[in-house]
This record gives sequence, C-alpha cells and structure tokens, in this order.
Amino acid sequence: MDFTITEKMQVILEMINEFVDKELIPLEPAFLTQSAAEMMPVIKEKQKKVKQMELWGPCYPKELGGAGLNLMEHALVSEALGRSPLGHFVFWCQAPDVGNIELLEMFGNKEQKETWLHPLVAGDIRSCFSMTEVELAGSNPLMMDTTAVKDGDDYVINGQKWYTTSADGAEFAIVMAKTNPEAHPYLQASMIIVPCDTPGFNLVRNIPVMGHAGDGYFSHAEILYQNCRVPQKNLIGEEGQGFVLAQERLGPGRIHHCMRWIGICNRAFDLMCARAQERVISPDGRTLATRQIIQSWIAECAAEIQAARLMVLHAAWRIHNEGAKAARKDISLIKFKVANVMQMVLDNALQVHGGLGMTDDTILAFYFRHERAARIYDGADEVHKVSVAKQILKDRQIR
Ligand SMILES: Cc1cc2nc3c(=O)[nH]c(=O)nc-3n(C[C@H](O)[C@H](O)[C@H](O)COP(=O)(O)OP(=O)(O)OC[C@H]3O[C@@H](n4cnc5c(N)ncnc54)[C@H](O)[C@@H]3O)c2cc1C
Repeated sequence: MDFTITEKMQVILEMINEFVDKELIPLEPAFLTQSAAEMMPVIKEKQKKVKQMELWGPCYPKELGGAGLNLMEHALVSEALGRSPLGHFVFWCQAPDVGNIELLEMFGNKEQKETWLHPLVAGDIRSCFSMTEVELAGSNPLMMDTTAVKDGDDYVINGQKWYTTSADGAEFAIVMAKTNPEAHPYLQASMIIVPCDTPGFNLVRNIPVMGHAGDGYFSHAEILYQNCRVPQKNLIGEEGQGFVLAQERLGPGRIHHCMRWIGICNRAFDLMCARAQERVISPDGRTLATRQIIQSWIAECAAEIQAARLMVLHAAWRIHNEGAKAARKDISLIKFKVANVMQMVLDNALQVHGGLGMTDDTILAFYFRHERAARIYDGADEVHKVSVAKQILKDRQIR
C-alpha cells in the first residue's frame, strides 16, 4: 500500500493545520465559557474565511458547492480538523449535517434537493437526525415505535425521540418512523423530512450531557412528535427503505468520526508531551518526562494512535476501492477500537496534567467529558464487537 500524501493534499493539510492553530485553538477559552449563541458571530467570521480558502464542505462534490475531496482525502482533513472542537463545524463537515447531506444527495428527489440540500450545503441552514427513542433500546432500532401514518396526502408522526443532536436551531429533521408496522421488520421504517417549525414538532429540552446541556449546534435534544403532520412528498427514497438508508448514511460517517478522534488523540498527545517536558517535579529541575512511567505512557499512546490511524485509513481505502459492504467488518473494528484508544489517550493526557487536567484551562477535560459518548453513539462498542465476532466465526464456518 502506498502511504504517500499527494502534493495537493499536502498543501490542503498545511493550510488547515495553520488555520486550526492560528484561528481556532485561540477561540477555545471563549468556547469553553460561552454559549453557542454567543460564539456564533465569531464562528461565522471564521466560516467566511474557510469559504475564501475554497475549503468549505471539503467532502461534498464541487457541483454542490463543496471542495470535492474523496473519502481518503477527507479522512486526512477530518484528522487535522479534529484537533479543535470547532474544526468540523467551521469547515462545514460536521455531524449530523454531513450524513444528512450525503443521504439527500444520494436519495433525495429534485424538489428535496432544491428545498433542503442546497441551502444545507451552503451553510444557510442546519439539520438533525432523529432516530433514537427515549423508552426503547437504540442499539436495536427495529424496536422503535414512532409511527408515521398516512392521512390524505400527509404523514402524521407520533413518537418520543431523544439525542437528536443539534436539533436546537435546526431547520429540518430527518425522522425515522414506522410507516408499515405489519411488514418484514427490516422494511417497516422510513425516513421523512420534518421541518422543525411544523406544529407537533416539540423540542422538550436540550438534554444535559455530562453536566452540560449546551445550545444551538452544540446540543442534543429530546423531541416529542405529537400529531406532527408533513406532506408525503417529504419521504426520502421509498417507503420501508429506512434501515437501508441508515446503513448508507453511517458507512463513510464512521471514517469521518474515527479520523476526527485520531485528531483529538494527536492534540491530547501533544499536550501530554509538552506538559511532561515542562512540569518540574524535583528540586534538581527534573521534569515529569524524565520518569519511566510517563515515558511508557508516551510510547504506548504513540503506538496505539499509530495503529488506530492505520486501521482507519485502511478501512477508508477499502470503502473507496471495494464499497462499504465489503468493508463492513473493518468499519466495525475501527468504530470500537479508535473510540477506546481516544479514551485511553485522553485519560493519560489528563493524568499527566494532574489537577490542571480536571479544569477547563486546557481542552482536555472538555474532550474527556464529551468524547466518552464515542463508545455509545453510532453503535455501542459491544454491538460492533458482536458483529465483528459473528462475521469472523461465519467466515471460518464457510471455509
Ligand atoms: C452524544 C450522543 C449523540 C447522539 N446523537 C444522536 C443523533 O443525532 N440521532 C440519534 O438518533 N441518536 C443519537 N444518539 C443516540 C445513540 O445512537 C444511542 O444512544 C445508541 O444507539 C445506543 O442506544 P441506547 O442509548 O438506547 O442504549 P441501549 O440500546 O439501551 O444500550 C445500552 C448498552 O447496552 C449494551 N448493549 C446494547 N446492545 C447490546 C448487545 N447486542 N450485546 C451486548 N451489549 C449490548 C451497550 O453497552 C450499550 O451501551 C446519540 C447519543 C449520544 C450519547
């Protein structure tokens, strides 16, 4: 396998790294103390600069207004942007919008593209994805009980969702609901576009996550759909295709997430090494970095980050060359492996910082709080492990 980074990508990555260092990392103290609403004017300013750099929406096709990078190229971009919690949002390739854009691009009809996709890619509006329910196990979405019942030309939606990330201030939600509860379990659900100002779309609250409810893009909402009526033309793809579309939406998304997590590892690792080298722990001037136990953490983190990074790039390469279906096992492997490596690296980095690590004077505590969720969303660790093991055992049986 060739690991060379093309000249084009070297230039782009240099531009992004410089932007993250000079424009985004300095915003972090404000980001950690202010609301998203308070941060929006300066974020918009930075987004304007990204557009001028022609790096807006790095992974969307040029025809749509993006920078047209392929999955392998975007993986490297996602790593660079992950070094700041603002990176993906400022460059407009943030979840859940990125998944919704890919979905609408692949399966949206002409009218849906004009109404929702184009303004979304342009950054004029935001969106959210509403699948997980309060009362039923999200790990097995076949159990969902939100319904969309036909009535005249409309669907009437009823159900209680939560963890609808970024619903606060979003223009529309893509809602998973059962349109035919009598069909085969995998054919019961559909995806439907619901404008967030539709009567019956009730944002109950932004859920406090690790002690912080957040607002705007940086929040996760509970939503009660109560006789929420939308036209049937808001159906994406065909009725009963919900689970198929959900799979399509998640494949490349896991590469984006995993490379973002590698970026977080890189940032935490840099902070850990810098702190170890500067923190004097004895009167003779010796630093933490002189202690073997700290050296061992540094070496182990370096090895884990590199192994995880190569696993993700390999999975991206397989998706790029053989398609998401062929790469199913690789995608599950990276999902739980990288989430755990990130948690271990953040934990070590925080430990090296001692009491300082627990404060918001560095970005580590923010990452530590918010990225714990990586082991839960987009499929909990255990779900992916079971899936990997089943595939391995099945392959061995066939042989
Ligand atoms: C920060 C964050 C953002 C999110 N954003 C969104 C979003 O935008 N839209 C959306 O729809 N949802 C979102 N989610 C929800 C997420 O997808 C679900 O939390 C996830 O699917 C798990 O479902 P659950 O919480 O109901 O846990 P459950 O399904 O109740 O599972 C609980 C635990 O049980 C274990 N488990 C589950 N199944 C198995 C199994 N088969 N074998 C062994 N162990 C198992 C796992 O340890 C799992 O963590 C988000 C969640 C978080 C935390």
